[in-house]
Amino acid sequence: MQGRRSGLQLDEAQRRLAEFGPNSLPPPATVHPVLRFLAQFNSALIYFLLAAAGAALLLGHVVDAAVIAAVVIANAIVGFVQEGKAERALGAIRDLIAPHATVLRDGARQTIDVPDLVPGDIVILEAGDRVPADMRILRARGLKIDEALLTGESVTSEKHEPPVAVEAALGDRHNMAFSGTMVTTGQATAVVVATGAQTQIGHISGLLGGVETLTTPLLRQINHFASRFTWAMLGAAVLLFVFAVLVRGFAWDDALIAVVAVAVGVIPEGLPAVITITLAIGVQRMAGRKAVIRKLPAVETLGATSVICTDKTGTLTRNEMTVRHIFIERHQLLVAGSGYAPHGALTAENHDDDAAAIAAASAIIRCGLLCNDAQLREATGDWHVEGDPMEGALAALAMKAGFSPDHARGEWARLDEIPFDAAYRFMATLHRSPEGEAIAFIKGAPEALLAMVPDMASSANWDDQIATAAAAGERVLGFATKKLAHGSERLTFSDLKTGVEFLGLMGFIDPPRDEAVRAIAECRSAGIDVKMITGDHVATALAIARQIDLADDPKATTGADLDPLTDAQLQDMVPHIAVFARTSPEHKLRIVRALQANGAIVAMTGDGVNDAPSLKQADVGTAMGLKGTEAAREASEMVLLDDNFASIVAAVHEGRTVYDNIRKVISWTLPTNGGESVAVILAILVGFALPMTATHILWINLVTAVSLGLVLAFEPAEPGVMQRPPRAADAPLLSPFLLWRVIVVSILFASATLGVFFFTLGEGRSIEVARTMAVNMLVVAEIFYLFNVRFLHMGSLTWRGVLGTRSVLIAIVAVVTAQLAFTYLPVLNRLFDSRPLTLRDGGLIILIGIGLFLLLEGEKLLMRRLGWFKELRA
Ligand code: ADP
Ligand code: MG
Repeated sequence: MQGRRSGLQLDEAQRRLAEFGPNSLPPPATVHPVLRFLAQFNSALIYFLLAAAGAALLLGHVVDAAVIAAVVIANAIVGFVQEGKAERALGAIRDLIAPHATVLRDGARQTIDVPDLVPGDIVILEAGDRVPADMRILRARGLKIDEALLTGESVTSEKHEPPVAVEAALGDRHNMAFSGTMVTTGQATAVVVATGAQTQIGHISGLLGGVETLTTPLLRQINHFASRFTWAMLGAAVLLFVFAVLVRGFAWDDALIAVVAVAVGVIPEGLPAVITITLAIGVQRMAGRKAVIRKLPAVETLGATSVICTDKTGTLTRNEMTVRHIFIERHQLLVAGSGYAPHGALTAENHDDDAAAIAAASAIIRCGLLCNDAQLREATGDWHVEGDPMEGALAALAMKAGFSPDHARGEWARLDEIPFDAAYRFMATLHRSPEGEAIAFIKGAPEALLAMVPDMASSANWDDQIATAAAAGERVLGFATKKLAHGSERLTFSDLKTGVEFLGLMGFIDPPRDEAVRAIAECRSAGIDVKMITGDHVATALAIARQIDLADDPKATTGADLDPLTDAQLQDMVPHIAVFARTSPEHKLRIVRALQANGAIVAMTGDGVNDAPSLKQADVGTAMGLKGTEAAREASEMVLLDDNFASIVAAVHEGRTVYDNIRKVISWTLPTNGGESVAVILAILVGFALPMTATHILWINLVTAVSLGLVLAFEPAEPGVMQRPPRAADAPLLSPFLLWRVIVVSILFASATLGVFFFTLGEGRSIEVARTMAVNMLVVAEIFYLFNVRFLHMGSLTWRGVLGTRSVLIAIVAVVTAQLAFTYLPVLNRLFDSRPLTLRDGGLIILIGIGLFLLLEGEKLLMRRLGWFKELRA
């Protein structure tokens, strides 16, 4: 077939894209904005408020009704706008991890966006890929595809090249791969036959994964709390109403409006919206630090993470491999140079003759070049690799030794291969030599290869060489070859059982990332254990662990050592081990389970299709955005855009900040509602004039909740976030300390409000003036209290604490302006029955506000000294 080797020409691909359209399905229908706006009203809290507005209207309290309506609408608008913003932001973040496809175009392997695929494109499929379009298989090797999405069959389907009958059912079309299905093993080349809506999945679209809604366990917990609270309030309100009418002799309509005021005051109607916003901001901040959240609850879980299990290669190390040593039967060579640039001399060690050593090494170097899928590219003097970095290093080595990759690969045509798999840790290819012989090349973990040649393993001192190179942190790879019967065109595992000739070893350097070293130190101060779980050799892994200071005296074990252990034994052992080497994906799953059985909250990295089970099991499954498979990404909660360990730690930092901010929002909001209610309830119970009317309470909520409360969602992290241990996963949101705070502050607020109210009345001024004083007092108290709350774990009396952030200042200016209008603007004076105050009145209120601030700072200090609350002791 024409184009099979080289794929489409670029201009042809562009023409077809214009003709057939992008390879994407029409987006799922979105909810109409009007409906989304109306959905904002769908909560028990809002129903209650609307009922209250109705009652007020019936009683002729038009202003009250209007203000309640204003509160409800303002809330809905804030909720609607912020939710829309959050959803757009999440959508944009999701685009960051949109899948790619590997295609052959213009004779070269390229990575393109899935929507750019066109019919006729030659696509390369690998284990862990989601099939990006419908395609016919041209060449398959051990290819198995999970088609449950289309056929409902949970067994994977084997795929081959030979054509099938035209009328074959979908599940029997073994020469086709369908869009949306998942490659579980093997490799294939296939030609695209249908894209976008023309695909099988396009015909039945609607099956597509639903849109994720903006909710998390925490948010559900809060919503649940809010609705229970509303019902409790309703009950209490009825009792209060009965008490006011029967005992205090209130006229029933006055009593009703007073009770409505209390109820409205006490309901934290803005809370769910502000917490949603806090979470969304956390997700955005994490994305800014290269950690993309796929499942929102992970934002909360991240903050509680107590163990991070991480890969070594590429996550802790740079994954910029360079061959440094070559060990063959009679020689040992040192290779100069760094990165993928093909510059650097090969020299013999041990006073050998260079030329003889290089000549002897050419067989192993050729093996490394041919048993290889990577391509090196040069752009303005910069060499980079398309494919596996280790294979790129082998190509660079071959060029240093004088090979031309393209020429050698052309001369040694590849007939077949056994792709690399972490389960057996080697890869093999079959070639036709220039002389016409069938020759296999094998590369992989030295143990795996030496096991193929038992006599060789004992005769040479390979083990010593492996140990020496690995102890220096080098990744060691073995190489072997086998001549197959003349005319062989297929390579199977059984071919590698006999007659394999071991060629030697190479040591690769892969330096640790500098950021990883810093991030490890941060984890250690934050009480987070880091475990390295790698497929690499134990000595290599341990050497890298020491270089990055993973633990004080890192202990290592291997997958083989874990096999005989029972789950209980593993559970006892796992806290003491920092490095797990030569592990397979099944070991990862056992390790996560053992850690979780010990009560840990585990973040676990993974990239291969076999990692999916452990990623799902982990509390925060973390997939690699660069080298990870689509299967791993879909099983994970979080995707790292840069595959960097430091990004996980940054996400934990943001996760802790989000949780802190949610606690701040709550500990600021509840006392505000509490203070208002205590003051009014006291007035009804004791029987003095209300210090605030219903309208006043609504005004305060309207003005402060969406401005001051919202500020806390944007708070940056407190300085010590990564210097305290992770929070207990089951710790209640409203901890004893927060509860204590809410009660104390509610009482203080009520006292200050009632204090100025009675003081003003005592001066012989009107009740209207006294109430204006009370309202201003409460708002000013809230402003000062905001500064207390901004730091829960440390004093607020610092420059940073006193100056605030830009959003703090904006919110304060807004609230102060509103209060000035409330106090001095004639229209508002008429609406709210408020009266202008004197300068001295204002001064008094601010002085009391400062007093409250200092009192609460003192309380923070005292509580820390007393150590009553566990969370303050850390
Ligand atoms: P890691 O945790 O270091 O990423 P892997 O599971 O990817 O470990 O690899 C495990 C071992 O398999 C490596 O140490 C190496 O010996 C071997 N290996 C890795 N990639 C390849 C490859 N492309 N070809 C042959 N062998 C490989
Ligand atoms: Mg790897």
